[in-house]
Amino acid sequence: MKDKRIKKIIIVGGGTAGYMAAAALTKVLSADNCQVKLIESEQIGTVGVGEATIPQIQLYNKLIGLDENDFVRKTKATFKLAIQFCDWDKLGGSYYHAFGDVGKDMEGVQFYHYWLKMRKLGKAAGIDDYTLSSMACEKRKFMRSMDAGNSPLSNIAYAFHFDAGLYALYLRELSEKAGLQRVEGKVVDTELSDTGFIQSVTLDSGEVHEADFFIDCSGFRGLLIEEAMKTGYDDWSEWLPCNSAVTVPCENAGDPIPYTRSTAKKAGWQWRIPLQHRIGNGYVYCNKFTTDEEAKQTLLDGLDGKPLAEPRVIRFTTGKRKQFWNKNVLALGLAAGFMEPLESTSIHLVQAALSKLFTFFPTLSFDQVDIDEYNRQTVFEWERIRDFLVLHYHATERDDSEFWKHCQTMPIPPELSHKIEQFKRNGRVARTDNEMFNDLSWFEVMYGQGIIPDSYHALVDNFPEDELERRMQGIQKVMANSVDYMPSHQTFIDKNCKA
Ligand code: FAD
Repeated sequence: MKDKRIKKIIIVGGGTAGYMAAAALTKVLSADNCQVKLIESEQIGTVGVGEATIPQIQLYNKLIGLDENDFVRKTKATFKLAIQFCDWDKLGGSYYHAFGDVGKDMEGVQFYHYWLKMRKLGKAAGIDDYTLSSMACEKRKFMRSMDAGNSPLSNIAYAFHFDAGLYALYLRELSEKAGLQRVEGKVVDTELSDTGFIQSVTLDSGEVHEADFFIDCSGFRGLLIEEAMKTGYDDWSEWLPCNSAVTVPCENAGDPIPYTRSTAKKAGWQWRIPLQHRIGNGYVYCNKFTTDEEAKQTLLDGLDGKPLAEPRVIRFTTGKRKQFWNKNVLALGLAAGFMEPLESTSIHLVQAALSKLFTFFPTLSFDQVDIDEYNRQTVFEWERIRDFLVLHYHATERDDSEFWKHCQTMPIPPELSHKIEQFKRNGRVARTDNEMFNDLSWFEVMYGQGIIPDSYHALVDNFPEDELERRMQGIQKVMANSVDYMPSHQTFIDKNCKA
């Protein structure tokens, strides 16, 4: 029987996406069976941003077998328990989208439904008082889960903030040890077969590199998926209007906070990402509502420390490729598309794509049924994340600038309208299990953005009110005691993973 195995893979691009792919592929495929090669051009460089993650990254870290303390040390990382959204619902407003549990579910009904009832009756504190991660953020505390029975300390969900450049270097080291061949050079040409499959890429040196399967990690331009394959792009600017970011790192200002801060501004929003050695900052904006110069000034005015470089403007179009996998080319990272960094989902989407690639790993036949299914699942994942991001912009009381007036009144995807309508009625979230953001995330952001449901889950009224009040006070106390027990974020880093 003819050997139909994929024996040569070329990854084009050595940014976060390229090296995430390289580390995963070299870990899973033995070098004897399949050669993995990565081509990158230092002259072109990487986008160099992308420093905040979500807890799912721990699955990827496990897959490639990295030692978490070593990784935190080498990428000068800090821990992330939440995103704090300031001025999003209204000027002066603030809420956390926190990782992990909220309160304690009772009788099979999520805690937040009980809280909605008691809050309406004026018998409950703010939701943060029942949420371990939010309370820990307020007190700048952090620790990993410990074996503590029913205590909230036994289930702490966290992610990382890291230096994107150091992260790529870290993964490069791991991949090269596992057999990755790295080639320095600029791809200047691609050769396609009669059937439109890529056969080889040519470098500026004249070298030709052939492979069975190509992974396009070349960034926004999509060197293979777009320039060679002409796959096409779905533009989502009508829903996600920001198209620019200006970025600048600055000096640290005190101990790092264990969360990303996102502050809404006149024409977009500003991120603040604490690392061990600096703070990463950026202003994501729509250039129809402000100028690059004004955006730079807004960013610089909003820094907590001295800038460490000149501000850099990055332009993008929110959206995705019409196909993420086309023939023998798979696009990852910015080459696949970009939805903007509001909920730190891009790195997650690379890891989710890699996991799906392993599920649908091709043979030389490149079965179209598998490719179609890969694309179908990926489109679903992207669209539901898109809706979650659109929610932040659309559900706001802010009308103090043309940008926010536009966001309030813009049409939104029908699935999102449906989710908002259902939540408004009874706090339920109309989602399916395979969507990335869970009910709690939707609740935190809907409520945080000022959508207050008329009612709550029907079964809540079966619970005696005085007993509920007593239980909620108990939960609040347990949360406070647990956070008191946690060390400060800085102490945890110093003790376990100081750079
Ligand atoms: P790039 O970093 O652009 O890398 C492209 C690579 O391709 C480079 O190595 C380049 O040299 C190479 N290349 C290009 N052309 C050629 C050629 N002709 N020949 C050879 N090599 C070539 N994601 C998150 O998860 N969290 C965040 O907080 C976050 N923040 C972001 C903020 C902004 C403003 C932006 C724009 C993105 C952000 N992202 C974030 C997304 C994140 O940056 C990307 O997902 C991630 O960095 C992956 O980038 P990449 O590897 O796809 O592309």
